[in-house]
Amino acid sequence: MSTIEHNLQDVRRRIAAAAAECGRDAKEITLLAVSKTKPASALEEAMAAGQRAFGENYVQEGVDKIRAFAAHPLAAELVWHFIGPLQSNKSRLVAEHFAWCHTVDRLKIATRLNEQRPASLPPLNVLIQVNISDEASKAGIPLAALPALADAVAALPHLRLRGLMAIPAPESDYARQLAVFREMAEALAALQARHPQADTLSMGMTDDMPAAIAAGSTMVRIGTAIFGARDYGAPQ
Ligand SMILES: *Cc1c(COP(=O)(O)O)cnc(C)c1O
Repeated sequence: MSTIEHNLQDVRRRIAAAAAECGRDAKEITLLAVSKTKPASALEEAMAAGQRAFGENYVQEGVDKIRAFAAHPLAAELVWHFIGPLQSNKSRLVAEHFAWCHTVDRLKIATRLNEQRPASLPPLNVLIQVNISDEASKAGIPLAALPALADAVAALPHLRLRGLMAIPAPESDYARQLAVFREMAEALAALQARHPQADTLSMGMTDDMPAAIAAGSTMVRIGTAIFGARDYGAPQ
């Protein structure tokens, strides 16, 4: 068994255990394999082990991988998620190649994605990124700004508002991780009252996955625990 296959099985077991712990069905939780900086061969190993949803942070790197796998026998089953910071001048590539974008945090980006989404593709699934705890980060909107942005995004015909995403400030204490994730779960519940199609809460990474699941995450974004540590210095 390859290391990646072994790691994937281990992560799936941990998702099942965290779900069982709080009485949730593990099937409610999608595992997104975060493959940024990793070569196509690593994604191929994950695919061989049954993984189909991949998260990429850098537009060009992600598009290169999507193109590289376009002729793969499993291509039709693969689901590509853009999860990195998005600049306006890169929005077209996201609109044309990805199935999901997790990092919508201003109307200007949403409007561009809507205009640039090809009519031949289904609407782009979008999540609004909320800056829930990381004051230092410029990514994400404050909760107070969510209702107005959500209403505006939901009105765009080539986007489909699916829910919320957060990257909380790093925190090693479980109870404090849980408190922040619960704020996100409350925000999703409030959003669902106006937008019932918003069914997705993207939160939980390698170091805070169990707390995210306990709070109601429906999509965990896991890189290191599947592919090993990232080396940003090495040629990619
Ligand atoms: C890199 C990244 C992840 C994965 O982080 P790990 O700690 O390696 O699991 C998840 N979400 C986002 C937005 C990321 O940039």
